[in-house]
Amino acid sequence: MTTFFNEVQNYIGGVWASQQSENRIDVFNPATGDRLTTVPLSSKSELDAAVEAASAAFGMWSMTPVPRRARILFKYQQLLVEHWDELARLITLENGKTYKDAYGEVQRGIECVEFAAGAPNLMMGRQLPDIATDMESGMYRYPIGVVGGITPFNFPMMVPCWMFPIAIACGNTFVLKPSERTPLLANRLAELFTEAGLPDGVFNVVHGSHDVVNGLLEHPKVKAISFVGSQPVAEYVYTKAAAAGKRVQALAGAKNHTIVLEDADLDTAVKDIMAAAFGSAGERCMACAVVIGVGTIKDRLLEKLTEAADAIQIGNGMEEDVFLGPVIREEHKQRTLAYIQSGVEEGAKLVRDGRRDEACANKGYFVGPTIFSEVNSDMQIWKEEIFAPVLSYRTADSLDEAIAIANESEFANGACLFTHDARYVRRFRETIDAGMLGINVGVPAPMAFFPFSGWKKSFYGDLHANGTDGVEFYTRKKMVTARWKI
Ligand code: NAD
Repeated sequence: MTTFFNEVQNYIGGVWASQQSENRIDVFNPATGDRLTTVPLSSKSELDAAVEAASAAFGMWSMTPVPRRARILFKYQQLLVEHWDELARLITLENGKTYKDAYGEVQRGIECVEFAAGAPNLMMGRQLPDIATDMESGMYRYPIGVVGGITPFNFPMMVPCWMFPIAIACGNTFVLKPSERTPLLANRLAELFTEAGLPDGVFNVVHGSHDVVNGLLEHPKVKAISFVGSQPVAEYVYTKAAAAGKRVQALAGAKNHTIVLEDADLDTAVKDIMAAAFGSAGERCMACAVVIGVGTIKDRLLEKLTEAADAIQIGNGMEEDVFLGPVIREEHKQRTLAYIQSGVEEGAKLVRDGRRDEACANKGYFVGPTIFSEVNSDMQIWKEEIFAPVLSYRTADSLDEAIAIANESEFANGACLFTHDARYVRRFRETIDAGMLGINVGVPAPMAFFPFSGWKKSFYGDLHANGTDGVEFYTRKKMVTARWKI
């Protein structure tokens, strides 16, 4: 962890590329506001060099037998486990989330590598020996070539791990463009993959912003793009990459609703909602942004949520007992404060004002847990993704009314229901617009072997990230039909 800490460098063809462009920006520790290092905003020509390296490595890597590729993934998994603590610390340092959250994130990343190590099974085709007299047919699966991955700041390990381990296990080569706000982890992931035995050029990292993204979207040798980030950028990436004839999966923003029914165990629901709304400073695409209390519990639930939010400890995520760390940057803090102000001006009731928490005056980018009630569907705080510790509370007289409120949202990533009644669970499952549902669970993020399945404006594309969707996305098929007389 020494080579790149002073100056973040690109990793191209197995070497730390010395910086060509002078264009660099600062990387900050969000908990202190201290500058950690600088990251290059790489040029198109640096991106081209990475694509060329990936393209040159593709022939050899795609011909490497699948079990041999898988063995490198197994070794990689072992190294990630050995470096678990170091990786989690790095995440907390550059992202600000608590060490506990970061530790969990590393686990999620490792699980993706474990899934990808099953490549010999995942890559298998299918045969039918007798499609007609003396005729057989079979499907064979192949990698597609160079894949580009563009990732957000909020999961510097897990989100890249949704992409490159599966793509590489399937025989593709990869160019990763991590978030310029959290570039450190990606370099460490590359370094450890090389240590696991990955040949040079198979996994490349190019840091930067728009220019690198556009370079990936336009480059004819890049065959597929995996994107995770905000909705407007996801839509842009999807449109532009698809127009250039590439496969695209673009996972976007969210506004997740949690419905709590009268029969729910309120203490459990409140505990889970606190973690879902304020854990990782609300900077999760599966964060709970809106709670809908149904029926007679409406007032009691709001009181309990507010009490629980009052007890939250805010501070540097490296400190024990801290539950809520900073948001990613000063600009994001200011944007969040502007949303809070807009909620007030639009007539929502500010039940808990996170601007008044002591920690907000500290160095670092802190916003305390904020709760609004009396929110309606015309308000900006309900319509838009705030991506910060700001929770809207709404009420309904029935489950159907609550579902109708949630379904008005243009986003449809996740939704949760707290109840013990199977009839309500079934109704919720059948009628809610969302790709990932939680029943008595606050953050229903699927495991690595299932797809990460947002709907509506939370996803652009066909095949989702992770699981067998990921394998389908990163492979193409050949059908062979043969006649043999025996
Ligand atoms: P972002 O859209 O600002 O950035 C994502 C990536 O796109 C970064 O690598 C960034 O450099 C690049 N980028 C940003 N603006 C660009 C532009 N104009 N042109 C080209 N490239 C651009 O997202 P973020 O703030 O880093 O991450 C938070 C967002 O990601 C939230 O909206 C969150 O919901 C979403 N997210 C979604 C999922 C999901 O599974 N649906 C998962 C994690 C995060």
